[in-house]
Amino acid sequence: MRVNQRHIRSDGLCKICCCEGESIIHAIFLCSKVRGIWDFSPFAELLGDAPSVSFSERLLWFHLKVNHDDFLLFVSLAWAAWAYRNSIVFEEPWQSREVGVLGFVKLVHDYSEHMKAVSCVSNRAGGVSRGSWVLPDAGVVRINTDAAVFEGWGVGLATVIRDCHGVILDVIVRRLQAQMQVAMAEALAARMGVYLARRLGWDRGGA
Ligand SMILES: [Zn+2]
Repeated sequence: MRVNQRHIRSDGLCKICCCEGESIIHAIFLCSKVRGIWDFSPFAELLGDAPSVSFSERLLWFHLKVNHDDFLLFVSLAWAAWAYRNSIVFEEPWQSREVGVLGFVKLVHDYSEHMKAVSCVSNRAGGVSRGSWVLPDAGVVRINTDAAVFEGWGVGLATVIRDCHGVILDVIVRRLQAQMQVAMAEALAARMGVYLARRLGWDRGGA
């Protein structure tokens, strides 16, 4: 994604704040115009821990951290924040940010309900895969891994390890600047998960 196509100044400063560095993360989360969307969202606290290197890494991290419905909400808010900021950049600001944001959330929610109704198979876009959320038995941990291949950006790998109560023991997110098939990325993510579990002292994991 080229930043200068996304209405961020070529001198590296945000066109709206004029004081912060350029990045997609800035445009969607930190810009003065969109911050309020997140401050009053259920993600306000989690965002403090989220990776800030790139939007892709942050997306992947949330994908592992929150359940399916919350992830959809997160994506809806990100989309709404982006659209709202663009409306200001193009000097056609939405009349009400809150009403606009709700519209995006509803749109994504309705779409998701529609997809559930028309298909029993959960088909995930963008070549992203994800494990299930079943808790492991007592005495073992569950390793969930996730991989995503983004053309021109590389590969994102993420792993989360939970104990039998569902408590997150560790999360790791890595970006590889390489191109590969989704299956290979998934295999690498799984290997990273096993490595992380071992490092935490576990030699048995829930599959
Ligand atoms: Zn800004």
